[in-house]
Amino acid sequence: MNREGRPTRPEPAEAGSRTTFTGARGLDIEEALIFETGRLDATGVDIEEAAPFASRLGALASDAAPELPGLTEPEAVRHYVRLSRDNYSIDAGLYPLGSCTMKHNPRLNEKMARLPGFADVHPLQPTSTAQGALAVIEALADALLVMTGMSAIAMSPKAGAHGELCGMMAIKAAIAARGEGATRHVALVPESAHGTNPATAALIGFSVRSVPAGDDGNVSVEAVRAALAPDVAAIMLTNPNTAGLFERQIVGIAEAVREAGAYFYCDGANFNAIVGKTRPGDLGVDAMHINLHKTFSTPHGGGGPGAGPVALSSRLAPFAPVPFVRREGDALRLVEHAEGTESFGRMSAFHGQMGMFVRALSFILSHGADGLRQASEDAVLSANYVRASLNDLMSAPFGERICMHEALFDDRWLKDTGLSTLDFAKAMIDEGYHPMTVYFPLIVHGAMLIEPTESESKASLDRFIMTLRDLAFAAKAGERERFTAAPVYAPRRRLDETRAARQPVLRWTRPPAA
Ligand SMILES: *Cc1c(COP(=O)(O)O)cnc(C)c1O
Repeated sequence: MNREGRPTRPEPAEAGSRTTFTGARGLDIEEALIFETGRLDATGVDIEEAAPFASRLGALASDAAPELPGLTEPEAVRHYVRLSRDNYSIDAGLYPLGSCTMKHNPRLNEKMARLPGFADVHPLQPTSTAQGALAVIEALADALLVMTGMSAIAMSPKAGAHGELCGMMAIKAAIAARGEGATRHVALVPESAHGTNPATAALIGFSVRSVPAGDDGNVSVEAVRAALAPDVAAIMLTNPNTAGLFERQIVGIAEAVREAGAYFYCDGANFNAIVGKTRPGDLGVDAMHINLHKTFSTPHGGGGPGAGPVALSSRLAPFAPVPFVRREGDALRLVEHAEGTESFGRMSAFHGQMGMFVRALSFILSHGADGLRQASEDAVLSANYVRASLNDLMSAPFGERICMHEALFDDRWLKDTGLSTLDFAKAMIDEGYHPMTVYFPLIVHGAMLIEPTESESKASLDRFIMTLRDLAFAAKAGERERFTAAPVYAPRRRLDETRAARQPVLRWTRPPAA
C-alpha cells in the first residue's frame, strides 16, 4: 500500500498482461502456482485428533509440517478450473497437430467407458468376475486383427512408443531364438522417422543405421538394399510416412528385408489414413503398433492416457508378451505366465488400458466397417483440401503430389519475408488456432505438418484455410509485427523455448521469507 492507501499489485506470476491490477484479462484469470496460493495452515478436510497411540516410525517421526500447499475445497477447485481454461483441447477448437490425429472423441465412447461394470473393474479381481471386460479385450483384438490382416496382437502396451518397444522386443526374441542374437543388432531407420523409433532401437541395445529418403519423400528399395547387411535385425518404417505420403515401394522393401533375414517393424501411428483400405499384413509387415488414442479416438495429449496394441505376423506371434486373453470353452482366461513358451515376457503389470479399450471398441462398433473406411477417406480428403487450398501461397516440399491424411509445407515461401515457421505458428495462436506440427519431419526445412482429421466440417476447414491464407498474405506484405510479436493474446507471450529445453526449472523453491 502506498501513503494514500492505494494497494500495490500482487507480485508473483509474470502475467501476460500487467495492465490490470490482478494480472487477469477479463474473465481469463491469471493463476499463480498452487504452492504460491496455498498456505500451510489451510486445509479442505477436517481430521479428528488421533487417539493416543504409540508411534512405530522411530527416528523417521517428524513434527514438521510437510511443505504441501493447503487450500480450502473451493480454492482447490478454482485453481484447477482456472488452469484448465488455459488448456487448448479438441473440444475447444480445431487441432491440426500433424502426426497426432487429434480427432473428435465421440461422447458415446465416454458413456460406454463410464458404465460401472467397466469404470469400476479392478485389475486384481478374479477373472471369473470380469468376463465382460475380457470379452471387450477379445472383441477389440479381433477387430484390430481384421483391420491389420495380421496373426496375433499384444494388447498390453500403453502408448505408441511402448508398442514400438514391444514389437522390437518380439523381434529381438525371435532373432535370439535363431541363435543370431550376437550378430544381428542393427535397426534401419529412415531419416524421416519419428524420434521414438531410433530411441526404441537404442533402448533395447540395437544400433541405428539411417536410410535416406528420395526426392519424392519416399524410401526406395535400392536405399534399403544398400543398407541391408547380415548385422541388420529390423527396419522401422512408418507408413504412411511422416511426410504424409504412402510408401510406394513398401512391398519391395518388405521382401528385401525378409530375404536378408531381418524383420519389418511398421510404425502404425498414421493408420488413420488407411483403415479399411490397406491391410499392413498384406504389405509384408511383421509388427505394427496401433495408437488407439489417435486412430480410434480416445482423448490424448493433455486429455488422457494412450494405448498401443501391437499386431504381429505369424513369424513373431510365438514371442508375444503375456498377458493375453484365451477362450476356453465358454470362459475367457487371462494367460499370465510365460513359462514353457517363447513369449519374451511382460510389458506392464496388468493387461493394458481398459478405459481406452472400451472407448476404441465403442468407436469401432459405432462406425462399422464402412464407417471406418469412410473416416479414413474423409481424413485424406480433408488433408488434400487443405493442401490444395494453400499451395498457391505456401510451398510444398514434394510438389503437387496427393497426400494421405496430413499436408506438409516447408518454409521456402517465407524466404523473403524474414519470418520463420515458428513466427507463423505463433501468429496462429492469436487467431485462436493451435499451431500445426512444426519442424517435423526433420527432412523438410521449416516443416509445417497439418492434419485436420475427418472430424472437421467443410465450414470449419474453410475458416481455418481462410485464416492461414490471411496470415500468408500478411507475411508476404511485410506485416512483420503480427508475427514477431505473437502471441499477443495468449496467457503467456513468446517463451524462450531453447532455454526452457536446456535449463528446465522443474522444482519450485520457496522464496526466502521477507
Ligand atoms: C505419435 C507417434 C508415435 C508415438 O506414439 P505415442 O503414443 O505418443 O507414444 C510414434 N510414431 C509416430 C509417427 C507418431 O506420430
